[in-house]
Amino acid sequence: MTLANDVDSLLQNLGVPSDRYTQGSRAVRSPLTGETIASVQDATAGSATEAISRAQNAFLAWRTVPAPQRGELVRVLGNELRDAKTALGRLVTIEAGKILSEGQGEVQEMIDICDFAVGLSRQLYGLTIASERPNHRMMEQWHPLGPVGVITSFNFPVAVWAWNAALALVCGNPVIWKPSEKTPLTAIAVQALFERAAAKINGIPADLSTLLIGGRDVGELLVDDPRVPLVSATGSTAMGRMVGPRLARRFARSILELGGNNASIVCPSANLDLAVRAIAFAAIGTAGQRCTSLRRLFVHHSVYDAFVGRLKQVYASVRIGNPLAKDDVLVGPLIDETAFLKMQEALAEARTFGAEVFGGARIDEKQKPVAYYVTPALAEMPAQTGPVRRETFAPILYVMKYSELDKALALHNDVPQGLSSSIFSTDMHEVEKFLSVMGSDCGIANVNIGPSGAEIGGAFGGEKETGGGREAGSDAWKAYMRRVTSTINFGHDLPLAQGVRFDID
Ligand code: NAD
Repeated sequence: MTLANDVDSLLQNLGVPSDRYTQGSRAVRSPLTGETIASVQDATAGSATEAISRAQNAFLAWRTVPAPQRGELVRVLGNELRDAKTALGRLVTIEAGKILSEGQGEVQEMIDICDFAVGLSRQLYGLTIASERPNHRMMEQWHPLGPVGVITSFNFPVAVWAWNAALALVCGNPVIWKPSEKTPLTAIAVQALFERAAAKINGIPADLSTLLIGGRDVGELLVDDPRVPLVSATGSTAMGRMVGPRLARRFARSILELGGNNASIVCPSANLDLAVRAIAFAAIGTAGQRCTSLRRLFVHHSVYDAFVGRLKQVYASVRIGNPLAKDDVLVGPLIDETAFLKMQEALAEARTFGAEVFGGARIDEKQKPVAYYVTPALAEMPAQTGPVRRETFAPILYVMKYSELDKALALHNDVPQGLSSSIFSTDMHEVEKFLSVMGSDCGIANVNIGPSGAEIGGAFGGEKETGGGREAGSDAWKAYMRRVTSTINFGHDLPLAQGVRFDID
């Protein structure tokens, strides 16, 4: 069976009408082999504007539906995803190049956030606040906000939509999704599953979820439309630099989930067996194409040679290849040629800064038409210079030696990005310092696990050039709602706040 046939049967299994993936001018390519697997139609400026109008109408109806009933839609969606997990997970593998268990894991993450949002639909609570005035009380309410634009990156082609959509929907908002132009098929499949869920419940307004396929130009339509009060945008810092100011110009809200340059510190007291496994997964897993992938590693000089030696053994033996062709593959391909070239550029530049590079070569060049499989690279750096300070979205781990934890912490924080981080130590002084205000400056700080592989229960996101947005668990839902503060006078007098007098005759 060709990959295109595989895709066709998966999409049919997922209930996607064939005209949605056979009749467009945008060719969709699988990074596994480079083959064209489908063709899809881009949105136009006109169709995008109409879609936003329809979402606006859906909002007027959906906002009045009680939140627990909105949660019912998300519960049914979660069940559709459970039924579709194998097929959708495989489609993620084919379109984004992840190994099968990670493709399935991504769908599991969608299911998890649906479960979370169903519970949340009965917990959208505000505070009651003591008033300084007699016979008064203050309270907060959280109201639906409006259509939420969601722009997603190729590397989590479906989970990021779910993080946003599950929360937005229970909060009373429709969702308009602009997926990565590299991964439109999984988005089309998810939209079909959403439509199936919505059809199972009476009275769900049409157009609660809308898909706008296309590139940057289509994303910009969402970003610039005043009917979209919030845009959640996941992708590179370069994208955030364009999107952030455009949203700010029209005073729209943004949730920016941008690039990371994540680091771990391996201390002398660390459990090194555990650390090797954790670091291998974080640096090599998903071929280094997670926003939370480990990119910088600081290893204490007393364990450096032994530890880095063990890591190199893992790097030399990790199984790389097409995950559909071999069962035991741990690392799939890079997404495309550009990613490969950027990886090679970064390694060449690292060498000019004195790096000793292990790995990083292209393999399987016989793949037809063309695919980009690489051995992961471990670059031992004399200092945190050149490419170490930026995110290269490929499996490169820059390794540096340290002697004093304070200096390692200073270097750890001395990059423009602030997404995820971790420390490997069994010394509580080191661990607590890392977690304290003097420690990691990232949105995520872990202990004795790597920086990647977050659960949906926590708020996800990072600081500095990572954009400051938070998605998924904890109180991230508040970004999708409008807060109203009300003061209620249940007395018969009118005392003014701060003792102000305004006596009229
Ligand atoms: P990308 O920036 O190339 O594209 C991301 C999305 O933004 C795509 O849908 C793209 O079409 C859209 N886009 C690009 N420019 C735009 C513009 N000017 N206006 C509107 N939309 C625009 O990113 P990518 O290569 O798909 O993904 C990899 C990047 O995403 C990495 O930097 C990674 O760290 C980051 N990422 C971050 C998180 C996070 O939560 N912080 C999660 C996943 C990925």
